[in-house]
Amino acid sequence: MESSHLKTDVVIVGGGTTGLTLAKFLSEEQVDFILLEADTSFFEKSCGEGITPEIGGCKFFDLYESQVGIERITDSMRIRLDYGDVEFDLSNIMVDKRAVEQELARQAISRGGDVRTGERVRQVTRVRDQIRIEPQGIEAKVVVGADGYGSIVRRFMGVEKPRHFGVAAAGYWAEESPGNACIVEFKKSVAQYGYAWLFPRKNDWNIGIGSVRAPLFRQQLARFQQRYPGATGWRTAVVPLDLPVQSYGKDAILVGDAASQVVSVFADGILPGMICAREAAKVLIGLSHRNFANPDLSAYEKGWKSMMGDTFRNGYFVHRLMMGLYFSDHLLYGFMKLMKRVYR
Ligand SMILES: Cc1cc2nc3c(=O)[nH]c(=O)nc-3n(C[C@H](O)[C@H](O)[C@H](O)COP(=O)(O)OP(=O)(O)OC[C@H]3O[C@@H](n4cnc5c(N)ncnc54)[C@H](O)[C@@H]3O)c2cc1C
Repeated sequence: MESSHLKTDVVIVGGGTTGLTLAKFLSEEQVDFILLEADTSFFEKSCGEGITPEIGGCKFFDLYESQVGIERITDSMRIRLDYGDVEFDLSNIMVDKRAVEQELARQAISRGGDVRTGERVRQVTRVRDQIRIEPQGIEAKVVVGADGYGSIVRRFMGVEKPRHFGVAAAGYWAEESPGNACIVEFKKSVAQYGYAWLFPRKNDWNIGIGSVRAPLFRQQLARFQQRYPGATGWRTAVVPLDLPVQSYGKDAILVGDAASQVVSVFADGILPGMICAREAAKVLIGLSHRNFANPDLSAYEKGWKSMMGDTFRNGYFVHRLMMGLYFSDHLLYGFMKLMKRVYR
């Protein structure tokens, strides 16, 4: 009997920067997909909104191809420690993330992509050789989990939740910035086992604080908020800080936070997720040319590992090392000075 389900080749669960970047690339090649985003508008989560301009030879503007939502490009990163400051020549692209996500969605939709908001997926199952998505009643050949930290697709694939994660909150502080540096505070007195950030945008700052020790986080956040009483728009979220997981199965893949594709040391996940989304798009576009016959999704994992594998590994080990140094401000300072030599 014919199924009454709506049929598509690919279902993307999650419309953050990762899912929307994938949607953009798939729409350029007319791949048949439906993207389902739970929230009714984009970027309901919190984020520092600072994007590393380039990782592993891949530039943000090669993937984004627009100036919409670009607030400012800073030219250095000042690390504040109790023993003094260490300045790195690292720039950051500061964005209005909601505007960036809306623009990605606009680009995908303008090329015929099917992007739907207010659509929370509650169940992913396999029925015969099809993926079934409920309550939307959609049948697909492949499901992509771009649904972040609590990914339902990750659960469907039998991958356990991230064991190592950070809890963080961001808000907006309406002050003009005198300089053009992003500031990160690694101070025990501010954030134990984490850090605080002050990232300047056009007319305000994105400020926030995070920690890998959830029980300490609440107190630290309250103290930080007292320092900036006029700051508004506080939102809290969780970011995975593990090494990435195996990201493919028979007919499912994971991308972005759902796959823990985050450079842990700075919880840097926007550009890494977008890079991995482009690798996913390459594989899905190739499969669509063969009508998804015998899909081998392992090529996706090979693709992102060759671009990002070393960066994820190094970021993870530096992050763990730094967490181990938190008992001593002096050691943390020495470590940053050493990093400065490496980065020179
Ligand atoms: C406070 C904080 C600050 C950060 N700062 C930075 C920073 O400055 N720079 C940086 O590079 N990274 C930063 N990160 C990390 C970065 O935000 C993430 O790595 C990145 O946004 C991941 O994007 P994503 O699209 O993979 O996941 P997400 O942004 O989490 O998007 C997942 C989407 O899936 C949707 N979804 C979830 N479940 C379902 C479902 N069942 N059905 C339908 N939709 C669903 C969600 O609503 C969400 O829109 C920060 C993280 C936090 C928490």
